[in-house]
Amino acid sequence: MKICRFNDNCLGVVEGDTVLDVSAALDVIPPMRYPAPLGDQFIAHFPAVRERIAALAAGAPRLALAQVKLLAPVGNPTKIINAPINYVKHINESNADPNIKHGRTNITHISDWGLFLKATSSLVGFGAEVQLLYPDRRNDHELELAVIIGKQGRNIAEADARSHVVAYSLGLDMTTRGKELLSWRKSADTYAVLGPWLTTADEVGDPNKLDLVLKVNGEVRQSANTSDLVYNVDKLISWASEKYTLYPGDIILTGTPEGVGPVVPGDVMDCYIENVGRGAMRVASRYG
Ligand code: MN
Repeated sequence: MKICRFNDNCLGVVEGDTVLDVSAALDVIPPMRYPAPLGDQFIAHFPAVRERIAALAAGAPRLALAQVKLLAPVGNPTKIINAPINYVKHINESNADPNIKHGRTNITHISDWGLFLKATSSLVGFGAEVQLLYPDRRNDHELELAVIIGKQGRNIAEADARSHVVAYSLGLDMTTRGKELLSWRKSADTYAVLGPWLTTADEVGDPNKLDLVLKVNGEVRQSANTSDLVYNVDKLISWASEKYTLYPGDIILTGTPEGVGPVVPGDVMDCYIENVGRGAMRVASRYG
């Protein structure tokens, strides 16, 4: 099932070029009192929501996918966890390019770096646009498979990792190149893109065998397969959960393959991940 959030926080099922408005399924989420529990409550209650969606789908109003404004399909993740260097060819291109390396010592292996976090406030959906904060500096696209955590867990074994995944999505880890910390260069508003929808794990199959392609203005920039991940999806979930308790709706961006490069206002990034989805994201400047 492909599930989107659209317009004014409506809930949709995506079927081809059509969106079924199943917003009434959100009524199964229990009302909350302050303070809200940690974790995205739509994802935390997803089994019940999904059951209600199935009952509503046949009679649901139908809209054209092209006519709705897609929001990030997870509204309230507690964190966006990111693998900084997780494809060998991306490590090599980073060491070879002074504009990426910026005088730092050689980038080595993900185990030397650990994971990093992007601010949840940086998150947008494919109905928005990436607004470059420093249009005079180099800002790169990084297409990444996004893993959506379905249930709370800590110290999750690799063998058990998939049971914690509810869905997958496309992620863009937008990045200003420079010397500052990752959380400063990668966490500006709109620098985390998620969507266009969630594709439930049962439809995706093996997440460690998916093609990824990113085109800018029709030209292929990134083309790879998640089989080249240094730490695969299972290892990343396990490793992240040693450090952080994972909550429903938490997002793991699994790292970008080779082919990163700059975008400028006016560009369109066409993003594709096999079995997950495809979407176009526009680039603009924050300053109009
Ligand atoms: Mn990245």
